Amino acid sequence: MDFLLGWRVFPLLTLLASFLFFFYMKTSSKPSNSECSLLPHDRFWILSNNIVTPTGVISGAVEVRGGNIISVVNKENQQWKIKSNVVDYGDAVVMPGLIDVHAHIDEPGRTEWEGFSSGTKAAAAGGVTTLIDMPLNSYPSTVSEETLKLKVDAAEDKIYVDVGFWGGLVPDNAFNRSALEGLLKAGVLGLKSFMCPSGINDFPMTNASHIKEGLNVLAKYKRPLLVHAEVELDSESDSEASDGINDVRSYSTYLKTRPPSWEAAAIRELLAVTKDTRTGGPSEGSHVHIVHLSDTRASLDMIKGAKSSGDSLSVETCPHYLAFSSEEIQDGDTRMKCSPPIRDSANRERLWDALTEGHIDMLSSDHSPTVPELKRFDEGDFLKAWGGISSLQYVLPVTWSYGRKYGITLNQLASWWSERPAKLAGQDLKGSIVSGSHADIVVWEPDTEFELDDNHTAYHKNPSISAYMGKRLSGKVLATFVRGNLVYKEGQHAPVACGVPILAK
Ligand SMILES: [Zn+2]
Repeated sequence: MDFLLGWRVFPLLTLLASFLFFFYMKTSSKPSNSECSLLPHDRFWILSNNIVTPTGVISGAVEVRGGNIISVVNKENQQWKIKSNVVDYGDAVVMPGLIDVHAHIDEPGRTEWEGFSSGTKAAAAGGVTTLIDMPLNSYPSTVSEETLKLKVDAAEDKIYVDVGFWGGLVPDNAFNRSALEGLLKAGVLGLKSFMCPSGINDFPMTNASHIKEGLNVLAKYKRPLLVHAEVELDSESDSEASDGINDVRSYSTYLKTRPPSWEAAAIRELLAVTKDTRTGGPSEGSHVHIVHLSDTRASLDMIKGAKSSGDSLSVETCPHYLAFSSEEIQDGDTRMKCSPPIRDSANRERLWDALTEGHIDMLSSDHSPTVPELKRFDEGDFLKAWGGISSLQYVLPVTWSYGRKYGITLNQLASWWSERPAKLAGQDLKGSIVSGSHADIVVWEPDTEFELDDNHTAYHKNPSISAYMGKRLSGKVLATFVRGNLVYKEGQHAPVACGVPILAK
């Protein structure tokens, strides 16, 4: 392009780009109607002395219009003072809403475990503005275009926050490129696979060859593969446990059946394949994300090494690994059973170190509830009880309450719970308080304490099975906005569920 022509075309291009931008902003947000929000304005200002932006915590205002953040201004900027529709939250923290990339909403099929309505009400009450649903524990599992449609249909008109979906990479579809592409084209944000039995019959485990094939397909769509990294290894304690030598009510018995070597062995196997994701590699463009890391020894060192070699790799851990330690789990308290297991307190300290030093990239709930009967509280049998921890509504106060002694900051919380999860899920318009983003916001009071007792209103199904019941936490959610809709405010939800299913294009 010649120089002069460039100058003539440039303003036109800018005009076209702005037109497209505004058109996109208009169409990408569902217009708020009065029933979607507890606040009757389409345009308003959120004020606070603690607004968490990517460049630091500021005192100022966030301008919202049509579901999006239009501007973020410092207090010194007087602009907002002349405006009406101002909601002043004083010293309460205004932070990007949490994006939970690992939640099991078990509808359709096991709605008595968790459903879209209950799960997203709990999310909203906990400041979680986006959930990415796991492809298993519902029935059928989300492993095809057809089963994804069942999920999306089941979610319709029931969701209070936005919900995206991971699809399953299973032996049935791993070598069937057109089936996998069908699932990706239908809108799953990425795939999930297990390197050990998942505990769900219609979600079988994959090996490294399945994963290699899956990554190759994902590369084309630039979407991630999430992996449950444990492989079953024979161990003496395993047979001792099943022979009844160990007490099945003792947590240590369960712990011995899933040692750290299971995680390390899986990660070793997995990293042989993640090399493919490197620049110039056969699956460049894909990404591997290790879910719920528990082991901080060999596993973590291998992950660090692979990252520094250029593998496109990230890793999450969950609040229950950061809050609890194996030594404190009471006999028969199967609320605490999950896999991989909660390990000892020295391991927990190293998890905090890895998180605060940036080796663990993000957090997720792994909210994986069931009905109380399957937790087998009567017998307290750790080997037979359902493995999965129910936590969705509490992840923000839990992370904050247990993290305070490690000096965690509001910006770290926003990075672990919003910015990096948004990136993993390919949600460029979510996860940060910046102009142009969706107005997905949580307002909360870090110093307000509350007891998780029977008087506390929990919205997820089967609240009694949550591992956090009986705990005192600090960090009370006052309000949650999803694309500008005030969907939750101090114990009240908006009359209508106006969250939207997020489907990748
Ligand atoms: Zn899970």
